[in-house]
Amino acid sequence: MQPILDAISAGASSDEFAHLPLPDTYRAIVVRKDEQAMFEGVPSVDKDPRQALHLDEIALPELAPDEAVIAVMASSINFNTVWSSIFEPVSTFGFLTRMGREGYWGQRHDQDFHSVGSDASGVVLRVGSAVRKWKPGDKVVVHCNYVDDQDHSSHNDSMLADNQRIWGFETNYGGLADLSVVKANQLMPKPAHLTWEESAVNALCNSTSYRMLVSKNAAQMQQGDAVLVWGATGGLGGYAVQYVLNGGGTPVGVVSSPDKVELLKQLGCEAAIDRQAAAYRFWSDEHTQDESEWRRLGKDIRGLIGRDVDIVFEHPGRQTFGASVYVAARGGKIVTCAATSGFMLEFDNRHLWMKLKSIISSHFANYAEAWAANDLICQGRIQPILSAVFPLEETGEAAFQVHRNLHEGKIGVLCLAPEEGLGIDDPDFRAEIGEDRITAFRRHGA
Ligand code: NDP
Repeated sequence: MQPILDAISAGASSDEFAHLPLPDTYRAIVVRKDEQAMFEGVPSVDKDPRQALHLDEIALPELAPDEAVIAVMASSINFNTVWSSIFEPVSTFGFLTRMGREGYWGQRHDQDFHSVGSDASGVVLRVGSAVRKWKPGDKVVVHCNYVDDQDHSSHNDSMLADNQRIWGFETNYGGLADLSVVKANQLMPKPAHLTWEESAVNALCNSTSYRMLVSKNAAQMQQGDAVLVWGATGGLGGYAVQYVLNGGGTPVGVVSSPDKVELLKQLGCEAAIDRQAAAYRFWSDEHTQDESEWRRLGKDIRGLIGRDVDIVFEHPGRQTFGASVYVAARGGKIVTCAATSGFMLEFDNRHLWMKLKSIISSHFANYAEAWAANDLICQGRIQPILSAVFPLEETGEAAFQVHRNLHEGKIGVLCLAPEEGLGIDDPDFRAEIGEDRITAFRRHGA
């Protein structure tokens, strides 16, 4: 890998990159098929990503005509890597087996390892014969929407494609590695004012929050809307709060410590609820919800902003969903993309229909949405929420921290980048935006 790194640091030409020899194998964080039953009988909370995530040497697959090989400088931990590493709610090897049935190129993915990771920043090393917009040497970030653009269903909104997948979760050859193989239609320009690790943490969570709140495909937040954001300093929430503020709305951020309340205030989110201090008990036992506790949350929101929220930004799922439906204003929207605490949800439908509320589902983002969200990062209007950085060798520990909710914002992972702080091409623009804003989570987490 040293010649590749040397070429990157020397700013080699596209032609020089195109002629660099590619190694036959590379380092990648994998889960192993023969370990997929390793946590059987272990409670979810005790399943430890550090036991399942390994740094292995894997073979570089043959490149399809519509793909690119990327030198991955940095990646990030997303919750989907936590799911892969604890084999919940299903083992991801089932996705790879099904993909393997899709012919020659699909078969490459059906291996006894799964190279995981759904974010990356890096440099294009090779492009397939059908790639037109990108060339070796281009500095890129990668979004994780993996679609076959020859399928009619992938047009209009590609998230509705029959064969839509998440790269590095439902496909092999993901981003937590020294190299990765991606479709050309996953590539986007790297923000010139950010480091490799700051660039690497955004695409998945930032694009998801963009679609959930801004896009016509989900909640379509309006100026003046009040938005309840669960996990407001987490991966999704840290971007959601910025979108609400940018869009002229009022965020009400829910977090779980005074420290996170402090971070929210620094971000400009004045209305914050510490759910640990409030000690809500939405479920009085495993089967019964307590409406008086939903009411208490609603009262707390009104106490902060004087009104109910127009949108609830939902992802915790079972623990919070009943309360989310209850506290949304008449005609309000509950936009959901996940169910971290359990996916069998329960809510009182009377509060939904009598008050004409709607539940809107959302999942990642199509290419246009991911591009728009990345463009806002490039313009310095949305800041990265990088809070900590781990070397590739310690990915297991990084995923453990996310699983146990010990982190804030996003955890970055250095892959080929030898140290933090590299990759800034436009220091003047960085200075204009302000180091304080760009590194707010990093300094808070340090
Ligand atoms: P993070 O862990 O970074 O943040 C989630 C935050 O939610 C936590 O920091 C925590 O904040 C809060 N939270 C966790 N459990 C509860 C609970 N029981 N009640 C209330 N709040 C809770 O994860 P992400 O934001 O990256 O992802 C969140 C979920 O969204 C995951 O399940 C992930 O898989 C999913 N996801 C789905 C996507 C999609 O495209 N469909 C894309 C990205 C993520 P605090 O403790 O401060 O309250």
